[in-house]
Amino acid sequence: MGRLQKTLIPFLGLVLAFWFYSARETFKPEMLKGKRVIVTGASTGIGEQMAYHLARMGSHILITARTEAKLQKVVERCLELGAASARYVSGTMEDMAFAEHVVKEAETSLGGLDMLILNHVGTSYFGYFNGDVGHVRKLLEINFLSYVAMTTSALPMLKKSEGSIVVVSSMAGKVGFPFTVPYSATKFALDGFFSSLRQEFSIQSINVSITLCILGFIDTESALRAAADLLLVPPAPREECALEILKGGALRRRELYYRYGSTRLPLLLRDWAAELLDYLVRSRYRLE
Ligand code: NDP
Repeated sequence: MGRLQKTLIPFLGLVLAFWFYSARETFKPEMLKGKRVIVTGASTGIGEQMAYHLARMGSHILITARTEAKLQKVVERCLELGAASARYVSGTMEDMAFAEHVVKEAETSLGGLDMLILNHVGTSYFGYFNGDVGHVRKLLEINFLSYVAMTTSALPMLKKSEGSIVVVSSMAGKVGFPFTVPYSATKFALDGFFSSLRQEFSIQSINVSITLCILGFIDTESALRAAADLLLVPPAPREECALEILKGGALRRRELYYRYGSTRLPLLLRDWAAELLDYLVRSRYRLE
């Protein structure tokens, strides 16, 4: 009997896991065809790649960042790739009025919104915490408060379309990372705000999904510039990362982990072996 239990229970677990995952909906590019999407921080990096994927899928795209010349080029490329429409608004997310203005622009030019992708990130330093409280405040405004402001303004449109909010975060928003203290704080704040908001949506039967994206090291220019010499792990490609984020949003997933092996699996240790996880995180750095 004991032996039977030992083999039967794991076997049943495997069958259930297989059934659960195989029964889940799979992504099709048509899911985003004709959808009205805002992508923030889309002048470069992962945001730029998300804009190109959305263009190939035939979405209506509104992108934003500060650098107008780069945004113009991304819009041109999106139109070449087949976007249903593509436009930009330039400005800084330090200014909450600008964050709200971007959402207003979707209302006036697209007539509504199906997906809000919050991806921009302010510049920070890579090194020991330098005690600059003003910098932490500024980064919280760009990386966190503007996300809250945009979500608040976009909610009436998203409720109407039963749309999605996609929040781009990081492993540094789930577990303590050295050398990115202010950045980590802003990413933890996103988890607290959006995970709590998801709970309230559920209680109030608001059909707006929230997908929190937990990313590892990705090969964008800014990340390579900041961390390539210090990190011992290879970066994952930004094009693939961008597509996985869009899939997660379209499938209304609660959380998206990319790459799975270097994010979700280590995080399994968080509650049971936190010190081991801390050690593993530190061991990814070249420390002199
Ligand atoms: P990039 O640095 O390549 O791009 C950041 C984007 O944000 C740019 O479009 C930039 O444009 C814009 N931006 C910066 N400051 C402001 C501002 N004040 N107001 C408005 N827009 C601004 O970032 P990544 O593509 O590497 O990262 C994208 C997301 O992925 C971020 O949320 C990041 O935290 C997350 N992530 C990335 C990882 C990586 O290894 N790359 C790892 C984990 C998470 P402009 O300068 O023109 O304003």
